[in-house]
Parts: sequence; structure tokens; C-alpha cells
Amino acid sequence: MKKFLSIALAAVMMLSLAACGSSSNKAESSTEGSSSDKKYVIATDTTFAPFEFTNDNGEFVGIDVDILAAIAKDQGFKYELNSLGFDAAVAALESGQADGTIAGMSITDERKEKYDFSEAYYDSYVAVAAKDGGDVNSYADLNGKKVAAKTGTQGADCAESLKDKYGFEITYFDDSATMYQDVLTGNTVACFEDQPVMAYGISQGNGLKIIEEEKDDFSTPYGFAVLKGKNAELLKMFNDGLKNIKEDGTYDEIVAKYTEAK
Ligand code: GLN
Repeated sequence: MKKFLSIALAAVMMLSLAACGSSSNKAESSTEGSSSDKKYVIATDTTFAPFEFTNDNGEFVGIDVDILAAIAKDQGFKYELNSLGFDAAVAALESGQADGTIAGMSITDERKEKYDFSEAYYDSYVAVAAKDGGDVNSYADLNGKKVAAKTGTQGADCAESLKDKYGFEITYFDDSATMYQDVLTGNTVACFEDQPVMAYGISQGNGLKIIEEEKDDFSTPYGFAVLKGKNAELLKMFNDGLKNIKEDGTYDEIVAKYTEAK
């Protein structure tokens, strides 16, 4: 855990540096109005590959990270990206410590009451995964067992909605990597996670397998969020930039870079 924390801290520091570096792009766009000197604080998750994660070279990368960078470049705004964890990123937004959140955040009706979301940028739904090669293969096998979920996520909502029906208990985690590890060690027998993230993890050999999928009630796309009624300018830039990077092929290149088989 200590090691993980120091890696996370290093990642945050690195990102701050990277964001400072990117401010040199600013010169080109400084004519665009009063807000051009503002540096937005954007909060994100820690280990949520392929959307945000630290790669083998120790760089904090991912679809969300690259999309944000491409949009900021396109729209000419400065930002600092803080890798906090999902629940902490949402809390930072809520308390005004962050101007925006990009963290594979599902656009749910409940969240729309508190946050304004950008246009959707990636489709997702909740999946349940267990240890590959183990004997947990469906919801029926969860009876009387403990399952893992990440605090504040759709996966957690999904687990809560099913726990009485299938008779399992939920243990909560702050980050996906620790949650998967708990399933591998067998403290919990399954975890609730976003399907694109779980599928990517499996393709990278995380030792898990998908046993159930919730495509009906827990199918929601990701969006960039700001606090309701706040940072409308940032939200508009995100939407305008997203449209541009979709049109010029940058968006597809970013997604392909992280999802095509290596
Ligand atoms: N998409 C899920 C949610 O918004 C999980 C996000 C995450 O874990 N970063 O709740």
C-alpha cells in the first residue's frame, strides 16, 4: 500500500509538471479572451486502465488523459490533472477543489442532478469478474460470499441492487487495482467493474474472467463533469474540443492506441 501511495504521489507530481510544460501551448491562444490565463484543476482516478493508469515507464497515461490533453490543445486552455481516485475525484469536484472530473465517469440520472456532463465520449456497462480458473461462474455462486466493489461507482450501485437477491456481502475499495488483488487472493470472490476496464485488464493478464454482464440497468456512457451551474465555459470548451477531435480523427487514434491488441 505504501509503495502504491508513493507511486500515486509521484504520478500526481509528474502530472503537475506535465501540465506546467503544456502551458507553453498557451501563447498561441492567449488572444481568446479573459479566461485564457486560468489553469483549470481536473480530477481523475488512479488505476482505471485503459482510461487512466501509470504505464510501465512510470508515465500517467490513458484514453481520458489523452482526450483531455487533445481537447485542451484544440481549445487552448491550461490545466493540471490530479490523480486522486474515483470517489475522491468526485468529492474534489463537489467541494470546489476541482473544476472538472474526467474519470470514466458514468452519466447517470442521479448524478445529473448535481453535475453538468459533457456529451458522452465512451460507452460502458457493468460486468462482474471472478478469478480465472476458479469455481465462481455466475451470480448463483456468490451466495454467502463476499464480493468487491469500488466506493461511489456504478459497479457499487449494481452490487448493492443485487446483494439481497443473491445473498452476498460487499467489501469496498478505493481503487480498481487493490480490488482485483483482493479477488485474486480470495478474500472476496468476485468484483463489480466497468466492462471496458475489466476486458482491458483481462487482455493484459490480470488473472480474472467475466462471469456476468449488466447491460440493461447499468449501461451508461462516460462524460466529463463539472459542478452543476459552474464552469460552463470549461464544459463548452470540452464539448467543442471533443467534436473537433472526433472530426479530425484524433479521438479514434487515441482509443485505438489503448484498445487495439498489442
Ligand atoms: N463508470 C463508473 C462510475 O462512474 C466507474 C468509474 C471509475 O471507477 N473510475 O461510477
